[in-house]
Amino acid sequence: MAAFTIVDHDYDVVVVGAGGAGLRATFGMVQQGFKTACITKVFPTRSHTVAAQGGVAASLGNIGEDNWQWHMYDTVKGSDWLGDQDAIEYMCREAVPAIHELEHAGVPFSRTPEGKIYQRPFGGHMRDFGAAPVQRACAAADRTGHAILHALYQQSLKYKAEFFIEYFAVDLMMDESGCRGVVALDMATGTIHRFKAHQTVIATGGYGRAYFSCTSAHTCTGDGNGMVARAGLPLQDMEFVQFHPTGVYGAGVLITEGSRGEGGYLTNSEGERFMERYAPTAKDLASRDVVSRSMTLEIREGRGVGPEKDHIYLHLEHLGADVLHKRLPGITESAKVFAGVDATKQPIPVLPTVHYNMGGIPTNYMAEVIRPTPGQPDATIPGLMAIGEAACVSVHGANRLGANSLLDIVVFGRAAALRCKDIIKKGSAHRPLAKDAADLALSRLERIRTANGSQTTAMIRKNMQRTMQNDAAVFRASKTLKDGVAKMGEIAATLTDLKVSDRSLVFNTDLIEALELENLMACALTTITGAEARHESRGGHAHEDYPDRNDETWMKHTLAWVDDKWKVKLDYRPVHSYTLTNEIEYIKPKARVY
Ligand SMILES: Cc1cc2nc3c(=O)[nH]c(=O)nc-3n(C[C@H](O)[C@H](O)[C@H](O)COP(=O)(O)OP(=O)(O)OC[C@H]3O[C@@H](n4cnc5c(N)ncnc54)[C@H](O)[C@@H]3O)c2cc1C
Repeated sequence: MAAFTIVDHDYDVVVVGAGGAGLRATFGMVQQGFKTACITKVFPTRSHTVAAQGGVAASLGNIGEDNWQWHMYDTVKGSDWLGDQDAIEYMCREAVPAIHELEHAGVPFSRTPEGKIYQRPFGGHMRDFGAAPVQRACAAADRTGHAILHALYQQSLKYKAEFFIEYFAVDLMMDESGCRGVVALDMATGTIHRFKAHQTVIATGGYGRAYFSCTSAHTCTGDGNGMVARAGLPLQDMEFVQFHPTGVYGAGVLITEGSRGEGGYLTNSEGERFMERYAPTAKDLASRDVVSRSMTLEIREGRGVGPEKDHIYLHLEHLGADVLHKRLPGITESAKVFAGVDATKQPIPVLPTVHYNMGGIPTNYMAEVIRPTPGQPDATIPGLMAIGEAACVSVHGANRLGANSLLDIVVFGRAAALRCKDIIKKGSAHRPLAKDAADLALSRLERIRTANGSQTTAMIRKNMQRTMQNDAAVFRASKTLKDGVAKMGEIAATLTDLKVSDRSLVFNTDLIEALELENLMACALTTITGAEARHESRGGHAHEDYPDRNDETWMKHTLAWVDDKWKVKLDYRPVHSYTLTNEIEYIKPKARVY
């Protein structure tokens, strides 16, 4: 084994990830005086949160009446009754103080003429328990994520959080007591860092890059999910992948749902506003799974646009240059750069594109990671938390509403910090680590650094991405899923034939991409295996052979473990069919009417 230079650190808390979730947690931790390290593989303000456009949901009621109960109802309905209602109640109630805190932290929200935070309509957000659309998404033009991320980074610096930038977290340090911290590689120097912590918070984001076409950044490789899987813990509800209706055709770049919130609409080759047919009430603002499926059906039935009839048009030109300039400047530019279209004059060619991972590391609403034991489906593991897109709380259930993820990351980043106040003591001493605490990480690094097979990371990654794109798509079927599971097993097996050419430890992107590929592989396998097993349609999981939701058998969370031979084992745990307080009753399952 290479002689690694190992540096040890002691912290109260270590946060892995500096996106919106990681920074909100870091900010909360340092505000309370915890000695906190935040480790991130990219510069904090380059995290994928920076790309979030449309808004962050909260029932502030700045433009028309609103309340958290309506928000909760929409979120439960959007989740297709797979969301845990205690957690959903927590998120929708805490949304209001969480947004006010962001405002005070300096987020430059757009304003109404009276100076209140501007709110726009977003898909699935309604008033009066589903009666009519409501303006609930708080927006900073179409750069909401950018605004939040910058404010949170500045606040974290103000309170003296310690950042370890361009450090790549490789694996968790676990012992019989739980999680003891994390091992990271300083990409610039090749030194290894063991971060001991009373609480390790995983905030590593989603894994969109398991698919060929996605709206997420190249850095969204499910690293935290991979670490958790290697620690022998389960991932939850991974089969639920959200396709966003409006990725730019060909490029995958996102055109925010906020554009339909501002009045944009979709048409087919006959110029028909077809969403009126599929969702007579919500129309173009029906939830994303509904719009994505409707678009796919239109294309399948020969009403797609373009020479290949393989996409759909999004119209914004009727909104006028003024509105586009003021409310949607970013996407007007994206349309120009990525589709060569002037959105003030022409429709934008769009196609459903992978956008969000509802599944992830199971947690309770206090951000603590679940490790179920027999008879205790909600047991937690000491020392480990997960938040943001990496986690599955589960507030989004089978399908996330737009503007609820920026909300999820700030509410549960904040919840992690609030929980730490109750469970850890500032500056308390650490027990010594076992001698072999870093072995899992170091042996993995060494195995990959010296991998001398015949297939490059890029080759294996492409095989994985194509298979996921074809066999675990908007519509799924028994045959393609079965073939896909078998193919993914074969592709994972080719990792033993991996070739890494660069043997150094200094800025070795070949090595980093291979580490990321292993993380993606764990995500891809659990996604497609969970999908094959789930014989129903619910939220983002639309199964052609089982077109109905089946609450009797399938209203349960999937748990998936991956072993070191890439074999996936599945089990299930109950959905929380109770609320957090008695101020709202459990929202009973209903058939879906749009
Ligand atoms: C284009 C786009 C637009 C969106 N628009 C909206 C919107 O308008 N409203 C909404 O609610 N949601 C939106 N979403 C979803 C939402 O933005 C994301 O789900 C959310 O920002 C994820 O935040 P996060 O903090 O969990 O992860 P990220 O922002 O992805 O951050 C992950 C962090 O983890 C770090 N990291 C990862 N792996 C490692 C590792 N191995 N070692 C060290 N660090 C690591 C990264 O460096 C990064 O700092 C959008 C998503 C996309 C892709």
